[in-house]
Amino acid sequence: MNLLDLTPDEAESAVSQWIADRGDPAYRARQVFRRLWQRPVAAWCDTTDLPRTLVQALEQDLPLQRPTLETLQESVDGTVKFLWRLDENTAVESVLIPDRKRRTLCVSSQAGCAYGCVFCATGAMGFQRHLLPWEITAQVRELALDPRFGAPTHVVFMGMGEPLHNWTAVDRALTILNHERGMGIGARRITVSTIGIVPNLRRLAARSEQFKVALSLHAPTSHRRGRLMPVDRTYPLAEVLDAMRAFRKRVTFEYVMIKEMNDSEADARDLAQIARDAGALVNLLPLHPGGAQGLEPSSNDGIKQFAGLLRSLGAQVTIRRSRGLDISGACGQLRVDTTLRNDVESK
Ligand code: SAH
Ligand code: SF4
Repeated sequence: MNLLDLTPDEAESAVSQWIADRGDPAYRARQVFRRLWQRPVAAWCDTTDLPRTLVQALEQDLPLQRPTLETLQESVDGTVKFLWRLDENTAVESVLIPDRKRRTLCVSSQAGCAYGCVFCATGAMGFQRHLLPWEITAQVRELALDPRFGAPTHVVFMGMGEPLHNWTAVDRALTILNHERGMGIGARRITVSTIGIVPNLRRLAARSEQFKVALSLHAPTSHRRGRLMPVDRTYPLAEVLDAMRAFRKRVTFEYVMIKEMNDSEADARDLAQIARDAGALVNLLPLHPGGAQGLEPSSNDGIKQFAGLLRSLGAQVTIRRSRGLDISGACGQLRVDTTLRNDVESK
């Protein structure tokens, strides 16, 4: 059994049962359970408050699964990119973005991505596999274990993969990250970024915790969006926007600015309208080159003008600056080097 794949409630019962079966006192179950997420340890042998025989039995029956940190790259601006090896064919990245008191970790939910948005480096890798719940939450847990970093204060699902394509695991991972006896990160500090997989968007909205949601919009009409994001054929924009209405708190629209693709005055007018209707905050960011061939970012002045026009039309707008560009750690740039994968495969 892998305790780290269970929700805190499930793990607590599993540990209690296991302790009871051994005939150990019930307080041992609480000591063991705390080590999963609340005061995590890398391995059972790192605990100092448990008898040796119990530690050995835990290592035997309930070993703690961990990813291997394969590489770590630090940007001049303090952003840190981690490459985690999950199995011999699979590696994923996360990015830690420190900003004053905040430490935001951008996590991956899949290895690769099936949706092929034309501007995205992860999309260009294609889909490899879904991550398991523990493989998602481990990206957070591992930082909590490492005194150089410490547990992140905020988590965003903006790494590799489309989180709502891997709903079963992401649903569970959200519980583990948020639960007070899990990692204990507030729901308003956890953001799911999605291109809008409608049935699962509705499932996310139906959860009681009010996680934040960011819709990767990138174009204000189905026609223009479809050129950038093939998903529009399956879930047309109107259906996605309708599902977004189910969220009670303010949502964000992510909008990557691409020269002559989605930065015209007409785009701004259409975007202002749907953002106002949805009560959404529009987050503009320049396209990161590297994700896409043949696409260029809009100019800084162009982005400022676009933002000004949106504001004058009554939309709420922020312009996001890029972090970690020098280590290819920015949104849409995450891509595990295929040569590295091939090396492993050919071994
Ligand atoms: N699949 C999800 C989450 C991962 S992508 C989604 O698409 O929302 C995280 C964010 O990075 C998304 O808003 C995505 O649109 C953006 N992104 C992808 N490629 C990019 C690029 N080349 N430049 C800037 N942002 C990019
Ligand atoms: Fe997948 Fe998101 Fe990249 Fe689109 S932008 S290909 S959904 S990771």
